[in-house]
Amino acid sequence: MRVDVVSIFPDYLAPLELSLVGKARRTGLLDLRVHDLRDWATDRHRTVDDTPFGGGAGMVMRPDVWGRALDDVLGDADDGPVRLVIPTPSGEVFTQRTAEAWAQDERLVIACGRYEGIDARVAERYRERGVAVSEVSIGDYVLNGGEVAALVVVEAVGRLLPGVVGNPESLVEESHGAAGLLEYPVYTKPPAWEGLEVPEALLSGHHARIARWRRDRALERTAARRPDLLDALAADTLDAHDREV
Ligand code: SAM
Repeated sequence: MRVDVVSIFPDYLAPLELSLVGKARRTGLLDLRVHDLRDWATDRHRTVDDTPFGGGAGMVMRPDVWGRALDDVLGDADDGPVRLVIPTPSGEVFTQRTAEAWAQDERLVIACGRYEGIDARVAERYRERGVAVSEVSIGDYVLNGGEVAALVVVEAVGRLLPGVVGNPESLVEESHGAAGLLEYPVYTKPPAWEGLEVPEALLSGHHARIARWRRDRALERTAARRPDLLDALAADTLDAHDREV
């Protein structure tokens, strides 16, 4: 997969050289390119923003600068299908389902806004040109820029690419996975620490008992922390034992 990130703070994306995403870049599983939006500004101050039409506080990012940048970065239609991702707190919420869908894409281009955001005509223009444009929010809060959202998207999507996470089994029982539940609590050595014991079922070596314990804790945790996830489960997802938990 190829991912391009366009930002006025390209250094903000430096963490993408680390950990599993960094390794995926080095081994060629992920072709990640970071661009400085100001390279497409035309004045000597490398201006990318201006005052909002209609008045009000703050500045808005200019469509002409973004247009030049995105025309170059998106490239020709011959380069294959590409999704333009525009992070914004007014977008649809980015979820694990979104990450799963985008992991099937060949190319993502992430346009990081700053100030009051990007002139709305930018999304409109690329939609009209047939580009898949996704305006997404990473949660109900407001950040100063789209770079943190870009980090979130690249990590959430990147770890789903085949070969990025060493053991694909790790992706199976996670929170927000196919079961629709939060993950159960996890433990490692030592079995006793600060007077706290690892639950006995996990030390039993009995696979069915461990699986039952884990499912029960996942159900309890989901009910306590995210009852909305339980409500969203299909009616036949829970068996009689699940319902007692
Ligand atoms: N005026 C905008 C609004 O109220 O919707 C907020 C602009 S915000 C200060 C600047 C930039 O930060 C946005 O263009 C977007 O790129 C990014 N951003 C802020 N919060 C975000 C969120 N929750 N999800 C995704 N991107 C976000």
